[in-house]
Amino acid sequence: MGENERLYVEDAFKTNWVAPLGPNVDAFEKQLADRLNVKSVLSLSSGTAALHLALFILGVKHGDSVICQSFTFGASAFPIQYLGANPVFVDSEAETWNMDPVLLEKAIQEEVAKGKKPAAIIVVHLYGVPAKMDDILAIANRYQIPIVEDAAEALGSTYHNKPCGSLGTFGILSFNGNKIITTSGGGALASNENALIEKARNLSAQAREPVPYYLHKSVGFNYRLSNICAGIGRGQMEVLDERINRRRQVYDFYQKSLADVKGVSFPKEPAGVFCNRWLTTILLDAEIPEANERIRVELEKDQIETRALWKPLHQQPIFENAQSYTNGVSDDLYARGLCLPSGSNLTDETLERVVLKFKKIANEVLR
Ligand SMILES: *Cc1c(COP(=O)(O)O)cnc(C)c1O
Repeated sequence: MGENERLYVEDAFKTNWVAPLGPNVDAFEKQLADRLNVKSVLSLSSGTAALHLALFILGVKHGDSVICQSFTFGASAFPIQYLGANPVFVDSEAETWNMDPVLLEKAIQEEVAKGKKPAAIIVVHLYGVPAKMDDILAIANRYQIPIVEDAAEALGSTYHNKPCGSLGTFGILSFNGNKIITTSGGGALASNENALIEKARNLSAQAREPVPYYLHKSVGFNYRLSNICAGIGRGQMEVLDERINRRRQVYDFYQKSLADVKGVSFPKEPAGVFCNRWLTTILLDAEIPEANERIRVELEKDQIETRALWKPLHQQPIFENAQSYTNGVSDDLYARGLCLPSGSNLTDETLERVVLKFKKIANEVLR
């Protein structure tokens, strides 16, 4: 936490705004809209809720196809299932690790040929690295398919100076405990179309019609963010840039310190983008099977936590019947990637300790 989160939360108590609306909610939404440079933002109980509402408002229904990046966290695709629609997974390209535009177009063409024109495309900026949005947006426009940008990991990242989360019909953010800023749990939906956000606002509060009794013409959701949690978010927005700077320092430190370790490589920041470096990720030499898992187990013995990259969704048991368009990229990334300890509160001493230990183990495993 920064300095002011507690003050905003105390303010909610003092003024008795202990409800899913209030001054913290309004202020937090304004901060987010300013940061994303979008017309409107709705704060919500989670990023998953934001995705669910986005797809619902885009009219995704039972039996529809929805294209989703395969290399991501399961939450990117679960809301497709909530609506009874079918995910169609598209693999990544090797530069950004995000949706491959070439494969996206192939997937759209093949689905259209089957009479199943996709109802939406969910593109993810994984680990805070922006996807190739110019190409993806051009394809989406050509086929008239709306884009939902999953920017849950990418708050603060920019693509050609435009904030991630501001480029699609909808953008979604997450403030879960593990994200670059947190509200303990929460999310947001962003759009440049005010009417879409107003619709989402109504749906998120049980879809009441504007009459003095309870009238519903749509199913509703209870997805609002509490004014308490929004108070945390308000304070967190004030330290977002500090958090990003620290995460980028952590990435730079690892990259410099491990530059001479044979068999370890770092994804470069693609031209024209700014990455928040939510997590530092590395790739290990493909020649050595399961090097990532062997290093993880060894580091864990020293209480240093590393993790595998996201397991591609086309490999997940829950999605085994889903259509997928693959090219081997995400399978390869998953097989040899590793996330290093990346928290913005890591001290320089801790980072030194991680690097020292990592080098020792890597010299044994990657020899
Ligand atoms: C965290 C995350 C989500 C889900 O956000 P919640 O707030 O945890 O529901 C969705 N997509 C990606 C890529 C995420 O990392």
